[in-house]
Order: sequence, then structure tokens, then C-alpha cells
Amino acid sequence: MDELYKKLQNFGHAKTNIPLGKFTTFKIGGPAKYLVEVTDSEKLGELLTYLTGAGEDYFILAGGSNLLLPDAGLDKVVIQVKTTKVELLPDNQIFAEAGAQLAAVVALALRNTFTGMEWGIGVPGSVGGAVRGNAGAMGQDTWHVLVSVRAWQNSEVRDWKPDECGFAYRTSDFKTNGALVLSAIYQLTPGERVKITTAMQTYLKQRTGRYPSFPSAGSFFKNNDLDKWKGDLKDLPPLFIERKKIPTGWLIEQCKLTSYTVGGAKISDEHGNFLINFNNATQADVLAVMEKAQTEVYNRFGINLEPEVEIVKN
Ligand SMILES: Cc1cc2nc3c(=O)[nH]c(=O)nc-3n(C[C@H](O)[C@H](O)[C@H](O)COP(=O)(O)OP(=O)(O)OC[C@H]3O[C@@H](n4cnc5c(N)ncnc54)[C@H](O)[C@@H]3O)c2cc1C
Repeated sequence: MDELYKKLQNFGHAKTNIPLGKFTTFKIGGPAKYLVEVTDSEKLGELLTYLTGAGEDYFILAGGSNLLLPDAGLDKVVIQVKTTKVELLPDNQIFAEAGAQLAAVVALALRNTFTGMEWGIGVPGSVGGAVRGNAGAMGQDTWHVLVSVRAWQNSEVRDWKPDECGFAYRTSDFKTNGALVLSAIYQLTPGERVKITTAMQTYLKQRTGRYPSFPSAGSFFKNNDLDKWKGDLKDLPPLFIERKKIPTGWLIEQCKLTSYTVGGAKISDEHGNFLINFNNATQADVLAVMEKAQTEVYNRFGINLEPEVEIVKN
């Protein structure tokens, strides 16, 4: 047993040669050389400090719902964020550790009749993943309900105010600054139970109506700002103008790419922005479908589709 493996046991439950596909909603991804499950926020920070000090490469895995991993796996330490605490704070705030499910925050908000998290109903993944990618739905997002984020960066742990995090549509500085989100505090508002549950039921119906039943990572591409449209705005459905976004699913469907298939991957029959793994797809299969969609949409509309899913190469 090597030294690194022994050392990793000090921070959590470490294993070797663990297939990663089963931890992702896409069900794609080969083995991690090391996988360490960490259930304690402090240990997470200590592990990162140790790994960076030792010059060891690592990758953070949480809910696995926004990832396309390589079939050859990752020849590094994969850190599985398994912290779970979610609790009520004074002043209508909710504290959540990074590994907690976003669904747990939504459920606690509902139990306390807080409004602000309705959009999160049905959004898979963890609090840390949602902060990093500024997850959102129905025109709302994580950024606007946060009061602070605790994160590890360069061997230090500190609290960040939302305006320090570089939040924008489906992104934040946490994508590039090497920081690991450890926890977040949400600021919610007392609301009315009937309004909250009605909104959640409506959102859930809208979401699941077009969900494919095969493995995927949700919307593969980001939606597009309205100013990317080169044609006449009158050619767009009024909802796009109202939401100031052109849905990528619509662009892909206009290009008649529904059901376009490479190997085991295809564009879903139900939703143009869902790339699905319908039959043991490889990462290369998904990337080939992705490139076809990008090329066709660019050729027809002059819009560059940007992946929302994190594509990890080894
Ligand atoms: C069916 C389906 C529907 C979806 N619908 C939506 C939707 O409506 N809106 C939306 O925004 N997203 C949606 N998604 C995408 C996904 O749910 C979000 O992106 C989610 O926030 C990802 O969280 P995760 O824990 O699964 O992250 P992972 O997939 O595990 O990781 C994603 C990236 O975040 C990094 N990361 C994870 N945790 C941390 C942390 N604590 N600190 C720093 N970096 C971290 C990882 O290294 C990785 O690079 C959907 C996905 C699916 C499968």
C-alpha cells in the first residue's frame, strides 16, 4: 500500500481504483486512482492543504450531476464531498455544508414557509456544486439568495460575500480560482405556504414534462443571451424576449438535430438541450454529438454554444 493512500485515510474513507461513472448522472467515467470520501468540512480544508503542499493533483466530486468524465478515469486523488449538515439560523437564514443536497435546503425552506428557494425544486446536486455554477432555474439562481460562502483557498478558509464571488449566469469565480466551497448561508423571506407549494408544483411540472429517462447531465449547453440573435426579434417566441434568453434546446431543435446519434450518445427525443447516454456511451460519443450541435447551430444562427456541463479530460 503506498504512502499517499495511507495518508488519505487521515482525512476520510479512502479507496483505490474506483469507477467514477456510477457517481455521475451521465453514468460515464473510468476509475479514480484514489477516491476519498470526506464527511467533515474541516478535514476537507486540511486535505486540500495537504495535497497542494505535497504537489498532488486532485479533483472535486460532489453530486456528479454536471460532469462528463473521461473513460480512462482520473489518475489523481478524487475528493468526494460528503458533508451533509443543513440547519436553520436566526433571521430566516439557512446554513448548509457543501456536500448537502440542494434539495435539503429547498425542503427546509418549505418546512419553515420561507420563500426564495422555490426555483431549486428538482435541481439535482450539492450546495457546493450549486454555488460554484450559480445553479438556477425559472429565471432565478443561487447568487440572489446567498449571504455568504465559506471556502478554502490557498491553505486558508474564509467567508466570501456574494459580490466577491464573481457570480453571473451559471458561473462564478469558484470555477477558476482554485477555491473549494465548504458551506453557504442562504437568506430567505417568510412567505405563504400555498404560494410556495403552488410555485414548486408548477416548476416541477414544467421541468419533468420534458425530462428524458436516460442518464444525462441536464442541460448540456448554457442558454444564450438575447443579443446573440442576429435575426429579427419578431422571429422569436415572446417568452424568449421576456426571459432575455434564447434556449439552446430550441436552436438545436430548429436545426433538426433531435435524436442525432453517435455511438451510445444522442440528442434526446424530448429536449434538444439534453444529450443522453442511452447505451453505454463513451465521453468521445458525447463530445461528437456536442460538436455536431455546435457546428450546426453556428452555421445556421451564428451562435456559439457554450457547454454548461464540465468536460473533464485526463
Ligand atoms: C436532470 C438534471 C437537471 C438539471 N437541472 C438543472 C437546473 O435546472 N439548473 C441548474 O443550474 N443546473 C441543473 N443541472 C445541473 C446540476 O444539477 C448543477 O450544475 C449542480 O449544481 C451541480 O452540482 P453537483 O454537486 O452535482 O456538482 P458536480 O457535478 O459533482 O461537480 C460539478 C463541478 O463543480 C465542482 N465542485 C463540486 N463541489 C464543489 C465545491 N464544494 N467547491 C468547489 N467546486 C465544487 C466539481 O469539481 C465540478 O467541476 C441539472 C442536472 C441534471 C442531471
